[in-house]
Amino acid sequence: MRSLNYSLLTALVHLVWLTPCSHAGVLGFDIQLTFSGLTTSQQAVFQAAAQTWESRLIGYQDTVASNIVQINATGVTIDGAGGILGSAGPTVGKVGTELRYLYAAQGSMQFDSADLAGLQSSGLLYDVILHEMAHVLGIGTLWSSSAVGVPGFQELYVSGTGQYTGANALAAWRAEFNQPSATFVPVELGGGSGTANAHWNEVNGGGSNTGFVSNITGRDFRFELMTGWLDGPTYISSVTMGSFQDLGYMVSVPEPASMVMAAASVAVCIAVIRRSRRLPRKPPV
Ligand SMILES: [Zn+2]
Repeated sequence: MRSLNYSLLTALVHLVWLTPCSHAGVLGFDIQLTFSGLTTSQQAVFQAAAQTWESRLIGYQDTVASNIVQINATGVTIDGAGGILGSAGPTVGKVGTELRYLYAAQGSMQFDSADLAGLQSSGLLYDVILHEMAHVLGIGTLWSSSAVGVPGFQELYVSGTGQYTGANALAAWRAEFNQPSATFVPVELGGGSGTANAHWNEVNGGGSNTGFVSNITGRDFRFELMTGWLDGPTYISSVTMGSFQDLGYMVSVPEPASMVMAAASVAVCIAVIRRSRRLPRKPPV
């Protein structure tokens, strides 16, 4: 099975200040997608991923003017099947009245068309898009507002430490993964610049158990959606949802059964900066 590199945009290009409206807390959360170069069936997968996050992220803790996150999703020719999958990340930020959180207002997801087709045929496209959309919304990309050049908002992780200290994700890590004395959630430091510092930690290269088992899903942390290597089938842990809370979203509490999403085995490497990089092949799981 090929391995794919995925690069994300970590820098916010613009910070826009929006005037809050008077309906804070009841706005909900809305991902609006615009498409280019994607087939109808591929667009449907993007929409399904958006609906998943819209069902789990139900609003903003700060009073924001708009509950909309606009994402431009494009399919382009990059380097054929394998190699570079594309890039994604927030491109425009927004803040609310309380000035506690820096949110994504707009984002970009760009994929190599050849890889999209392969992922679609292998049934992995949904997981990959869900993962990358989470980066657009802030997981691994907005953990530190100062790191994206907009200091004064959330500071949940210091690059290079491997220690995520946001309170909600940490509480979830302690509870779901039976780590009552943990003082941080372990963050990936392996995989090279890109994968490191923007995902939950797992064994480098994926494909091996971490030994941390969810007491909700009964499954190892390596299968969590936001680790650096996407081992399928994935699930969304309460740690990732806690991180969304730490990023200033209001989240829904899912049914345990819905936390497990279907996908085939996969060895997709996820990186988080612009630099292009290829990773060694990994045998099919
Ligand atoms: Zn990633």
